[in-house]
Amino acid sequence: MDNLSPTDLPPADASSLDPADWSEFLAVAHRAVDDAVARIAALRDGPVWTPMPEPLRQGFRQALPMTPQPLAEIYAQVMRDVIPHAMGNQHPRFWSWYMGAGDLTGALADFLAAVDGSNLGGGDTAAAAVDMQVTDWIRQMVGFPEAASAALVSGGSAANLIGLTAARNAMAGADLREQGLAAMPQPLAFYASDQVHNCHDKAMNVLGLGHRALRRVPTDAAFRMELAALRRMVADDRAAGVKPACVIATAGSTNTGSVDDLAAIAAFCKAEGIWLHVDGCIGALLAIAPQGAALVRGMEQADSLAMDLHKWMHAPFDAGCVVIRDRTLHFSTFSEEAEYLARSQRGLAAGEFLHNYTLETTRSFRALKLWMMLRHHGVARFGQLIDRNLAQARALAAKVGADPKLTLMAPAATSVVCFRYEPETGDADAVDALNRELLLRLQEAGIAAPSGTTLRGRYALRVAFCNHRTRIEDIDLLLDALHRIGAQLESGPPLARTA
Ligand SMILES: *Cc1c(COP(=O)(O)O)cnc(C)c1O
Repeated sequence: MDNLSPTDLPPADASSLDPADWSEFLAVAHRAVDDAVARIAALRDGPVWTPMPEPLRQGFRQALPMTPQPLAEIYAQVMRDVIPHAMGNQHPRFWSWYMGAGDLTGALADFLAAVDGSNLGGGDTAAAAVDMQVTDWIRQMVGFPEAASAALVSGGSAANLIGLTAARNAMAGADLREQGLAAMPQPLAFYASDQVHNCHDKAMNVLGLGHRALRRVPTDAAFRMELAALRRMVADDRAAGVKPACVIATAGSTNTGSVDDLAAIAAFCKAEGIWLHVDGCIGALLAIAPQGAALVRGMEQADSLAMDLHKWMHAPFDAGCVVIRDRTLHFSTFSEEAEYLARSQRGLAAGEFLHNYTLETTRSFRALKLWMMLRHHGVARFGQLIDRNLAQARALAAKVGADPKLTLMAPAATSVVCFRYEPETGDADAVDALNRELLLRLQEAGIAAPSGTTLRGRYALRVAFCNHRTRIEDIDLLLDALHRIGAQLESGPPLARTA
């Protein structure tokens, strides 16, 4: 089909925010699509990340714009100053932290969703139907029963907060929604491994329980929660008059990708009458991977599950999901009445008010990207790509294991590989310093973007394979660069020892 001609359109209304000149807008918008596709097609040949020069940084400290500027000019500045200094997570050799590599279908959907404008807080719209369809698909993907509910949220942190709020209210022994924390007959304790993500600390703060109510259970050599220790801590709390409320099991820890023994923890929680919340921000989607699914067996027994679709499903940011086994409890935790949000039998307000399942009222139409991506690629494709990342992690771990200059720092249970470069000489602090510098040079040269972490007090390079564009040859490229830069550092002047 040919591009739309502005002469086919009703005249523009320059008194509104709509484009005063359709043809100007169309030209920029078409150009933006062409540029985006060209950029994604050529990713591999460019640097992963390009540091921002200081003058450019200054350019983002301009006065508040008071007068209009042509869209084409602004677009040119975005292309010149913003896009080249993106995070780089679309690049095949981006392996930092843990995040998806993006998807053009999802990006197109985000554009369509923004133009459509539906607010998913409520209303009888097709957008709401798409949202309910997608959350039901996600429920099926992670093996939860039909009676479970799910809500799309901004990400894993929000999903975990919602799950922990439901856990707190269900376990408090008082009507917390009405009476607040002061009505609790006993203090509550939550339990998570010492590898738990820090969003749970934020949640404990927001929930009014405080950091100390989140007990840190030690982990074994494979960074998994020690069950014997959990059992002991729960018993000690009971003896002290504290109510064990919730175990937060991690399915894919951020540091090492380790997965707690979900089936054993589920059995323990069931026997003890404790809420099981699984933080599956990294690992929940393993459930759809033919090879990976066995790693998260038991997850489907959780009372609540937090997951991220902007990680292993590569949805453009942001998209997370919380799944709760008991829909009624989910609803009663978050639903609030308001005369201005009364549901009607017919008309726009006839739909279910989805805000009753989350903390937000206004919600974006993030369901559209998931709906379009799942339909366009098919769920099996995402599972295969997850398995491919698992295989890449195993391959890198094997190469590290066979390389006398490298040491594996943790088992690569899923898709994260932690290791370090070993210089010929130098004490432990010097080795840490060399590895820190090695990472920065890799990133600054734009070759690859692992991140770093500290495991049991020692610094480690960390390669997190959550990338549908990574190929096996990218691993050799990384290792060649590591050896080259490592050798340069070993023969160079000593490095400062601070982080
Ligand atoms: C990423 C992550 C989170 C936080 O999710 P966001 O989407 O960044 O808010 C929580 N827990 C784990 C294990 C994670 O990896």
